[in-house]
Amino acid sequence: MDELREEVSRCTRCPELVDNRTQTVFGDGTTEAEVLFVGEAPGKDEDRQGVPFVGQAGKLMDNAMAQAGIPRSKVYIANTLKCRPPDNRDPKPEEIENCSGFLAAQVALIKPRIIVPLGRFGLEQMVKKGMKISEVHGRAIRRKDGIIFFPMYHPAAALHQPRYRQDIQTDFMKLAKLLKREGLL
Ligand code: URA
Repeated sequence: MDELREEVSRCTRCPELVDNRTQTVFGDGTTEAEVLFVGEAPGKDEDRQGVPFVGQAGKLMDNAMAQAGIPRSKVYIANTLKCRPPDNRDPKPEEIENCSGFLAAQVALIKPRIIVPLGRFGLEQMVKKGMKISEVHGRAIRRKDGIIFFPMYHPAAALHQPRYRQDIQTDFMKLAKLLKREGLL
């Protein structure tokens, strides 16, 4: 994992992102984690600190996770992009493509039992293009190889629209139940 982190830190595939980043944001957690969260891309705080989900959206997620009784030690947190898009714009398809090998390598090293795409970009990247988060959030999707996808709304959605807050909390509770059912909690 350290070698991969080092490789990511030297990546120059997306010139606009390279020019604007303070540093790459690789991921956070242990390779022993059973659950992999896949967010969108680092924001301003993450770009400064080099750690995913440390800003407002991250705090909301930490709270929801704590309330559901899921310890941080069980999860690894990564993003579809390892660099912050300028002004937090949406990732471009070619940027997601350029970065996809790094995420795939993280999945291969961590071998998570459960993958939680957070929001549309994580969902389309990890599960299926065109899938709608509003239709599949909070539901377990089992893949033939045993990996379970459990999509959720992106925590930042609740910062912009408080009505998502309850959905996110409910989905974290459901995730905790799923972890217990699978003998992981
Ligand atoms: N939003 C994301 O998708 N990822 C982060 O790391 C922070 C905010």
